[in-house]
Order: sequence, then C-alpha cells, then structure tokens
Amino acid sequence: MRTTPPLRWGLIGASDIAATRIVPAILRGSDTVEFVYSSTLAWAEQYAAIHGISNATADLARACEWPGVDAVYISSTNEKHAYQTLGSVAAGKHVLCEKPLALTVADGQDMLRAAEKQGVVLAVNHHLPGAATHRAIQHLVSSGNLGRPLAMRIGHAVMIPERLKGWRLTDLAGGGVILDITVHDISAAQAILGNTATEASAIAVRQGAWSLPDGGPSDAVMATLRFGDAMVQLHDAFTVAHCRSSIEVIGTEGSVRGVDVMTQDPFGTLWRTVDGRTEQIAVSNRRDLYDIALDGFRSATAGLGQPTVTAAEGLSALAGALAVARAASTRRNVRIASVS
Ligand code: NDP
Repeated sequence: MRTTPPLRWGLIGASDIAATRIVPAILRGSDTVEFVYSSTLAWAEQYAAIHGISNATADLARACEWPGVDAVYISSTNEKHAYQTLGSVAAGKHVLCEKPLALTVADGQDMLRAAEKQGVVLAVNHHLPGAATHRAIQHLVSSGNLGRPLAMRIGHAVMIPERLKGWRLTDLAGGGVILDITVHDISAAQAILGNTATEASAIAVRQGAWSLPDGGPSDAVMATLRFGDAMVQLHDAFTVAHCRSSIEVIGTEGSVRGVDVMTQDPFGTLWRTVDGRTEQIAVSNRRDLYDIALDGFRSATAGLGQPTVTAAEGLSALAGALAVARAASTRRNVRIASVS
C-alpha cells in the first residue's frame, strides 16, 4: 500500500521513454502529469493530446517554474539534462533525471550542489539496480555468499531498435553507445559491488551499417574497469542482434550468472555455481523496474529514504563512462578520481 502523498509531475522532454515507460508508471502510482515541455510546440501539443496531458509548452522557463508541480522528469536528449535540471532545481522542484546525468563531471557536480542547496531530491533514472534479479545478485555479494568478488562480466550488446536510430548515432546530443549503455552497466556494477570504478581501459569502434566514415560516436565498446581489486569487463553495442544479455559475478567461494537481466523488463534467470555444481536461484518480487524507480523517488521526496539511484551514484556512473570513452579515444588506461 502506498505510504507517500501523490506527486504532481511535469515532463521536460517529450520522449519515447516518457511515453513508453515513465508516464504509465506515474499513472499506475496515482500521480498526475501536469504538463509536457518540448522545444517544438507542435510536438509538445501532439504529445499532450496522445497521452492525455492537459498542458503543453515550448517555454522552458515556464516549464521549470510550473505552479503546483512537485517533481520534474527530464528525458530530453543528453546534452540538455544539466541546464534543464539546474532550471528546475532553482525553481524548487524535485528532479528525476534521465541518464547520463550530464555530459561532464563538472556539470554533474554543479547539479548535485544545486539540489543540495535547494533541499530537493535529484535522482537518476538508472533502472537496473532496482531490478529483482540485480538485487538478488547484490544480496549474494554483500552477504558474502560468493566470497570476495574477483571479477564481473556484463554483456549488454543489443541491436538498436529502428525507432531509436536518431540522435543516439550522432555526436550532437551526447549520443553513442558509451553514454547510452555503458553508463547503465557501471551503475549496475556499482550497486552490486558496493563501490565505484577507479580505472578504465577500452576499445570502442563503429560497426553499424549506419556508420559514416567521417566520425560520429562509437556504437560498440569493450571495456575493463577496476572496482577495488575486482575487475569488471563490459561488452556494449547497438550492433548485436543475436546475443542474450548477461551478468556474471565471480567470487572466491562461488559465482552467479544472470541471463536476460540487462533489460527494461523484470526478466531473467540466475544460476549459482559452487564447487562445480550449478543451481538455479529463485527470484521473487519481479516488479516493473520503472515502478520501483518511481517508488524510490516518491519515498525520497517524502523524506522516507533514498531513491534507487542517487545523483551521486549517477555521477559516479557518468565519471566511469567518460573514463571508458577517454580510454578508448586515447588508447591508454584512465584513472578515475572520486567525484562526489
Ligand atoms: P527521444 O528521441 O524519444 O526524445 C528525445 C527528444 O527528442 C525529445 O525530448 C524531443 O526534444 C525530441 N523529439 C522526439 N520526438 C520528436 C518529434 N516527433 N518531434 C520533435 N521533437 C522530437 O528520446 P529517448 O526516449 O530515446 O531518450 C530520452 C532520454 O532518456 C535520453 O537521455 C536517454 O538516454 C534516456 N533513456 C533512458 C532509458 C532508461 O531505461 N533509463 C531508456 C531510454 C532512454 P525536445 O525536448 O528538445 O523537444
């Protein structure tokens, strides 16, 4: 049963993810959506009509300050997250911001400081750490069931859906696989291992038939990051049609492997291997991942706990992803400083 008051939301970004995941989750939670903002008024109006939202605007200042709105969900393209968050926070709104939190660590730090100063919640919509499968893996690690974690392998190589082949394949809006998928992997690894990355190395390439010879962001990457003395290996891509997503944590006393667990839906199966014997692990309470994220956000705004992924955790994930990008572009190991 719900224990927090309903929130009145504004949408900054008339996006696919808002339409397909977040607006339905807002409504399932008995919250309301008061307005939608897009920089294109005609699109904001069309979007409002499709989704039954009463108000549409292309005036960002008005959107940030919308009277009676408690919380803003920011799901614009990545280069807009920082200034749209700062505008909303300055108006005293709680913010659930899409990943990546920002395009630079400095912008992310400004966002954190602004939210702290205003006393509002700033959370990042990394959906994976809330998943029942991820929480089960995290529990095996934190309870010591697997012993000391030595390594983690994440397979998050997918074929980008046709409808998403827009700004993600360009440099203009913070596109590319690293800020799209790698940042999610790092947030998942942080939650499972309970610490943050300190070093990264990577190779990133352009593999897709859509790739232009004269640049654009990478659409496939393999990276290795150091989390304490555990090594975390990632394969992320927009170009892989025939592979199931996976996570494997290898500890001194056992390992756990999850298949189909890097998804937007509460799917996936876990197996634990100890002494050469493999058994399936039951995973209960498979709720919608975005319901979980919104519940955590609502609780945080009511002063009843932390969001699923805090702004500080989103910032660490961003720092890790930017280090992967720099390691790939410079072909050198990159050290990652503590950011929050
Ligand atoms: P979309 O491409 O659907 O929308 C992004 C922006 O593009 C909109 O905010 C709008 O810009 C513009 N736009 C989209 N459609 C139209 C149109 N028909 N006419 C005019 N403008 C249009 O973004 P996504 O939903 O794919 O991603 C949005 C954000 O969410 C990104 O930051 C992404 O990383 C994140 N994301 C997170 C996921 C998660 O599971 N946590 C999953 C998917 C995405 P404007 O606001 O300027 O008008």
